[in-house]
Amino acid sequence: MLLEHDTLQNFIFDNHPVRGEIVRLDRTFQTIMNQHYYPPVVRQLLAEALLAVSMIAGIFKQEGKLTLQFQGNGALSLLSVRCTHDFHLRGVVQCNEDISNIDSLAEALGQGTLLFTYEPESQGQRYQSVVEVTGASVARAIEDYFLQSEQLATRIFLAVDEKSAVGFMLQQLPSKEEEKEESWNHVVTLAETLSPDEMLNLDNHTILHRLYHEEQLRLFTPHALQFGCSCTVYRMENAIISLGKEEALKILEERDSIEVTCEFCNHHYEFDRVDVESLFKAGSQRPGSDIKH
Ligand SMILES: [Zn+2]
Repeated sequence: MLLEHDTLQNFIFDNHPVRGEIVRLDRTFQTIMNQHYYPPVVRQLLAEALLAVSMIAGIFKQEGKLTLQFQGNGALSLLSVRCTHDFHLRGVVQCNEDISNIDSLAEALGQGTLLFTYEPESQGQRYQSVVEVTGASVARAIEDYFLQSEQLATRIFLAVDEKSAVGFMLQQLPSKEEEKEESWNHVVTLAETLSPDEMLNLDNHTILHRLYHEEQLRLFTPHALQFGCSCTVYRMENAIISLGKEEALKILEERDSIEVTCEFCNHHYEFDRVDVESLFKAGSQRPGSDIKH
C-alpha cells in the first residue's frame, strides 16, 4: 500500500449525483509548518485551512489564485491560505494573544468572517465573497460557505497528525430533487464511518474501496501539490523603492543592510547600501528580473 503523498484525487459516482475529493499533504504540510513556530491549535487550524483551500481549488477550473481568509476579533486575528490553479500552497497565521488554551476555530476567531477571493491569472473577473463563520470548525465553515453561496450540500472530513494532513470531501451535483436526497444520504452515511486514523494511513484506493466497494466510481488523474510562495527579489526591491530613497538611506545609517522578510514563507531578503543605491539609480522602471527563490 503506497500513500499518494501531496496529491489531490477527484472522483465522481456513476450512480449518484455526487462528486468527491481526497487531498493528502505531507511534505507540503511539513514545509509550511516549519516556516514559523505555531502552537498545536494553530498548526491544526492552519493544516485544516490548507486542506480546505486545496479541495476548493480542486473544483475550480479557471486559472488563478484562490484565497481563504478567516478573520476575527478573538485571539486568532487572521488565518490566510492560498492555492493556485497549479496547486502551489501557502499559508500564514496572525494571533493577537495567547491561543494555547483554545481548541476550536469558533473560539479562536470570536466573531469571525470567512473571505473567499479568486484572482484570475490573466483575464477574467476578480471574485470576492464573505460569509459569517457560524460553524465551530474549518470543515463546518466551508460546508456553510458552499450551502450559502452556491446552494450545494457539502461534507468535509479532515484529519491531521504530526506529519500529514488529509481531507475527504463530498459535494452534491445538480440533479432531480428525489434522487438527490437519497443518494446524498447514502454516500454521506458511508463516509461518516471513516476514521481520522484510516484517512491518514490508508491509500486512496483502499479508502474508496472500504467505503464504496458497491458503487461505480470514476477517478480522475491526480494533481500534485506543493508549497509555493509568490515572493521574489523583484517584489521586495519594489517594497524598498516605495519607501523612498531618503527613508531607505536613513535605515542604512543605523544598520548595515535592510532586511525584508516574507510574511508567508519567512524567506529573508537582505539589501546592503550598494544594492539600495543601485535600486534608486535604476529607478522603479527596471526590467522584470522576477526570479523566484
Ligand atoms: Zn515568500
